[in-house]
Amino acid sequence: MTTQTDGPATANAKSAAWDLIGSLFWESGRTSAKPSDEEIGLFLADIPAGARCTVVGASTKDLVEALNARGVQVTVLDFSERMCADLRAALPAGSCRVLRHDITRPAPEQLRATQDYVLNDRLVNRFGADEARAGLAGMLDLLADGGQLRASIKLGLYPMDERMIAAGRERGTLDRFYDPEAKVIDFAAAGDVLTEALLPHGAIDPGLLLKWYRGRGREKRFDHDEVVALLGEVAVDGRGLRLVSATEFGQAPETRMYTAEAVAGRGA
Ligand code: SAM
Repeated sequence: MTTQTDGPATANAKSAAWDLIGSLFWESGRTSAKPSDEEIGLFLADIPAGARCTVVGASTKDLVEALNARGVQVTVLDFSERMCADLRAALPAGSCRVLRHDITRPAPEQLRATQDYVLNDRLVNRFGADEARAGLAGMLDLLADGGQLRASIKLGLYPMDERMIAAGRERGTLDRFYDPEAKVIDFAAAGDVLTEALLPHGAIDPGLLLKWYRGRGREKRFDHDEVVALLGEVAVDGRGLRLVSATEFGQAPETRMYTAEAVAGRGA
């Protein structure tokens, strides 16, 4: 297993938030933040043994284990050093590659256009609008021609967003941290409203949770049409993404798995 560091030019301040959490995410976090067995089944559907598959997000440990059990060639990419280290420690030695990489950057050279599948669970929900565009381009960059992206996305607002928006309205501070047109929430700018609206995340300590949210900064909330438009815009080296399906996740409200194929003939 190799470690790749991106160097200062690619520093993404959000990784520090995930460095606070690491394995606590799967050990103590909220069960509903992770894909259920049924959802893992959707991610895995028809992926044959030997396929080259990248999971973006080391926190999605159950999915990585299910792919390993199927005999898939798994690479995990994550921008958080601690997330990478904790996942390596949790998996049998040598069972997959775990590389430190920010998906909003171009793919690591050795992985460009090599992957049959790129999978991620609600990772796009952690992005601002520009990051979402860059992140999807980074995922496309990994895919071989005809390879598939499977990305689950929660549509609309989270319950905690709604609590923050209500509290912000009451205090008259909403415009400091929420843009209703763009549907972008800025956890770093919410101040006391975040403390007031904080909901438990499993057994994770509330003080740590607050720091994690603040470090997550800006996140965009999507509706279905925005996701479809975004997928249609992504272009890397004359290739694009063609939407194949959008499937409801059984147990997670307003959450869909978007499946898209890497195709030639898009953009410059
Ligand atoms: N629902 C998810 C799960 O089951 O793990 C959690 C959401 S997302 C996959 C969280 C993971 O993505 C974390 O491990 C975080 O460090 C990683 N991550 C977030 N932004 C990233 C980025 N720009 N590049 C690479 N990894 C990123």
